[in-house]
Order: sequence, then C-alpha cells, then structure tokens
Amino acid sequence: MSTVIDELGARLKTYEGRAAAVAGRGKDPVNEPMIRHWCEAMGDTNPAYTGPDAIAPPTMLQAWTMGGLSGHTGRTGRTGAHDELFDLLDEAGCTSVVATDCEQEYLRPLRPGDEVTFDAVIESVSDRKTTKLGTGYFVTTRMDVRVGPDLVGTHRFRILKYAPARPKGKPEGKPEEKRARARRPRPVVNRDNAGFWEGVERHRLLIQRCTHCGTLRHPWLPGCNACGGPDWDTVEASGEGTVYSYVVMHHPPFPAFTESDDAAGAAGPYAVGLIELAEGVRIVSNVVGLPYDKVRIGLPVRLEFRRYDDDGEDAALVLPVFRVQEGREGEAG
Ligand code: ZN
Repeated sequence: MSTVIDELGARLKTYEGRAAAVAGRGKDPVNEPMIRHWCEAMGDTNPAYTGPDAIAPPTMLQAWTMGGLSGHTGRTGRTGAHDELFDLLDEAGCTSVVATDCEQEYLRPLRPGDEVTFDAVIESVSDRKTTKLGTGYFVTTRMDVRVGPDLVGTHRFRILKYAPARPKGKPEGKPEEKRARARRPRPVVNRDNAGFWEGVERHRLLIQRCTHCGTLRHPWLPGCNACGGPDWDTVEASGEGTVYSYVVMHHPPFPAFTESDDAAGAAGPYAVGLIELAEGVRIVSNVVGLPYDKVRIGLPVRLEFRRYDDDGEDAALVLPVFRVQEGREGEAG
C-alpha cells in the first residue's frame, strides 16, 4: 500500500455531514393504490397490507419520498450539495455510477393518510477504492423519514461513483500478468440435489418424477409441487429441447462463463438459456455453438456434457449444456 495524497478525496470528505435535502415532502400521502401496486409487483400477499387497518409494506419507505419520472416540483428540499459532490466526481473522471447497497430501519409502520417529509444527509465518502468496475469513491447518503415530528424510518443508500476501468489490453502501471483462466463456480451439492449431480457426472440428465402422481420436476426438490408427495424416482432426459427464454449477461463480467473459444478469453457477454426439455421441464443452462447475440426463443437445441477447468489443478467440472443443432440456427419461433 502506498500513501498517495488524494486531493480530490480530501475535498470530497468536506461533504460528509452536509445536508442533501431539507424538509423534502412526499409527492403523495401514503395511499392504498400505491400499496396495492407494490404488493402486486412484489407478489406479496401479506394480509397486513390490505383492509381497513392496512399498513404500508415497510420496504416501501423510499417510495414515499421519490420524485418519480418528472421529479419533485416546487419546494423540493434539495440543497445542491449532492449535485456539487457529483460534479466534482464527474470532473475528476468518475463519470459512472452504480448503486451498491441500501439499509433501511423502520421505527413505526406507515399507514394510508400519513404525510411524509424527509431530510437527507451525505453521511460518508469513502477513501479512494479500486473495484473491478473501476476506481472511485463510495458515497453514503442517509435519509430520515418523518411523519409530523416523528422519525418513522431511515434509508441509507450507498453508491460507487467511479472512473470505468481501462479498456482491456492497456495496462495501467504494473505489467499485465498472465491471467489464469477463471474457474467456474462449483455447484452447491446437498441431499436434495446430489442425485442430479451424480447423474451429470455420468453424462445423464436425470429428471425427478413423483412416484405418487407422476409429475416431473426440475430443479430437484424434496417434494412434489403437484401433490406434495415425498417419494420420487427419476427419468433420463432424451436431450432434445428448445430455448424457452434467455437473457444476455453483459455486466458484471464473469470470465468463467465466457466460452474459451471466444476472443482472447475476454469476459464478454454470454447468453443464459432457459431450456425446455422434450419432457416438459425447464433447466437453466448455457447455449453453445453460436454467438450470444444469435440465441433466440424457439431454437432447437440438444444436450451435451462439457468438462470445464480440466487443467489438473482440481477436479474438472462436468456441466450439461445445450448445443444449437447444426443447420437449424434459423428455426426460432
Ligand atoms: Zn406428485
């Protein structure tokens, strides 16, 4: 560790304790429609949030203080300190921002009709930190939410404002080390899924089948979703399937998930497929044999087993993956 005089850091530190908002007002009182929409979006059916004695879900705390797309109008309570801090960081090249974490504390439930006010303070600015994303500063802002004179909750929100890491291939300072290929994360094998992984080891994709009602299930579970029965046997998947859905992961980069035949082992985007097997159950897996941006819903794929990290350092990992069938790349539905 070297001691670098960080002038910017010292300036940023002067913002600690400064108000970011004073006496801000919620746009709407706590109200039933917003509570209902929230609960629907979250799939939260807790009866505490409905009926004549309804309270708002505690995790909605910040929702009551937000300005929405149009922002707060009129008396916003903003002091400008937060904007100044961000401007300083932008000027220093820390132009990117990512939310890192949030902590909330609830002192009493909010109920429909409560009118919320809030004060926000820049609680802390970290020393300069280097993360995988880049180098910058963590800024923690605390919002105190009140109804009348009563503090009802606090919301602490931390962001990283950073200069994006240098483009690959341009070393900064120390010479590029020969990078060991990132290893795939290992599955967590437990009593409920051990049989699945034993099957994979033997290049068999086993689907659980309830011996009471015959319903197939994947991933492996201790009981049947359909009838609750605890007893099961297995059937082996034929290996035929189609891409039911997929996402393309761009960020954060995970070199371990990038196929080794990709350019220079770079941690580029990769597609994660939800494969519907011919037997009807679905499995999350890699789609291999075509570029990530060519994966499409409906593509016919076929199971194969791949060995990863087969470098002798550790036991290789065998995983089921799905290969697009030759000549059928255009068959998306
Ligand atoms: Zn069953």
